[in-house]
Amino acid sequence: MAMEPSILTSRWKIPDAHRIDVAMKHGAWATLPAALKMAPGEITQVVKDSGLRGRGGAGFPTGVKWGFVPPPEKRNGKPVYLVCNADESEPGTFKDRYLMWKDPHMFLEGIVISAYAIGAKAAYIYLRGEFGFVRRRVDEAIAEARAKGFIGRNILGSGVDVEVYTHLGAGAYICGEETALLSSLEGKKGQPKLKPPFPAVEGAWRAPTIVNNVETMAAVTWIVGHGAAAYREFGTEKSPGTKLLSVSGHVLKPGVYEIDMGIPMMDFIMDTAGGLRPGRKLKAVVPGGSSVPIMTPDEVARATIDYESIHEVSGSYLGSGGMIVMDDTTDLAEGLANLLRFYAHESCGQCTPCREGTGWMFRILKRVKEGRATDVDLATLKNLADNIHSKTICFFGASAAMPVQSWLKKFPDEFFGRVHRTGKVGYADVGAEPPGGDKPGGTTQAAK
Ligand code: SF4
Repeated sequence: MAMEPSILTSRWKIPDAHRIDVAMKHGAWATLPAALKMAPGEITQVVKDSGLRGRGGAGFPTGVKWGFVPPPEKRNGKPVYLVCNADESEPGTFKDRYLMWKDPHMFLEGIVISAYAIGAKAAYIYLRGEFGFVRRRVDEAIAEARAKGFIGRNILGSGVDVEVYTHLGAGAYICGEETALLSSLEGKKGQPKLKPPFPAVEGAWRAPTIVNNVETMAAVTWIVGHGAAAYREFGTEKSPGTKLLSVSGHVLKPGVYEIDMGIPMMDFIMDTAGGLRPGRKLKAVVPGGSSVPIMTPDEVARATIDYESIHEVSGSYLGSGGMIVMDDTTDLAEGLANLLRFYAHESCGQCTPCREGTGWMFRILKRVKEGRATDVDLATLKNLADNIHSKTICFFGASAAMPVQSWLKKFPDEFFGRVHRTGKVGYADVGAEPPGGDKPGGTTQAAK
């Protein structure tokens, strides 16, 4: 088994590492003094050179994003804000809460360094509504860091001011989307806005705002402390560094793991995550949070865990790193119905295709699950998903559509086997490969 790297998780096994005195004995806040002696642009360049990509899901290069903040003369006197996205609501994803709970000083140090790099004097940590217990721990860590002079005014006598605040959401999945998050932070209804303008130009209170994920902030601490080249010793050329994965489902050792990007996905599931239960076979994997397309065992066997390979092999995404493993006992029709119930509930309601379509898709899948649907319903389901994807204000519509499209396409038997065949609809009508001459008229294995 490959040795797991320990960049972001180096203090997780140390008792009481959330306490600043313990954390400092193991390297916490040792990077900040040197960072404050660097010019802000130098820090941005180190982060750019490291190739760090945002760990919230989109994988956009962090240093490049920082570079989108307009220079002071183009800001109309407005301040710059840093917002740390700690909403982490994607089903299957639970790594940021561990990072904040086990070692809050790792990401707080990254927040202060990043705020200095982009010229922000205020940083907000937006936590999902259910994270009250995490917020208390982070607030304690902020108070400890302020007492040591790492947060607040004139940090370590450098003349640099960075204040850090936590903000608890009200429990809405959509507030993980950055424009909805910023609206919620401003005290408004948490609903997404059309982009552009992007937050880096016009974000919180219409001022330039960089929104970065918790894991991204923790990685900045390590990168600035060790250098871009050291970071690039991990991972692949296009996906450098390490990644936190939260793995759940039918593995013997579910949990949060730090991996070297580029390792074979099957090795990770079968070795690091403990493998499947005895006698069971792998049916499917959702690699990056519930909204990304599903993968077949054959695709899993060919993929490595990095942004490029997963997409090339399967059309799916590494996303947030929330991996859901399903063995051959899984009822995919029931699983997809469950997912769509979630998306229908969480739609913010601004766009008709998303508001109406997610509920419609859920109701069809409920009928499929209960054996009350026909194959025509499956074609309607596919048609609905196609008409939601990319036709909405934010990416939520696509997030609800992609599971439907990919689960139907890659596992058609799971759905055709659960419906009454009318003879009007075949596998091709749901985007799947027709097996053995299947065509409208119904001659599939599932129909026999
Ligand atoms: Fe709201 Fe859905 Fe439209 Fe996003 S796609 S803005 S969640 S209705």
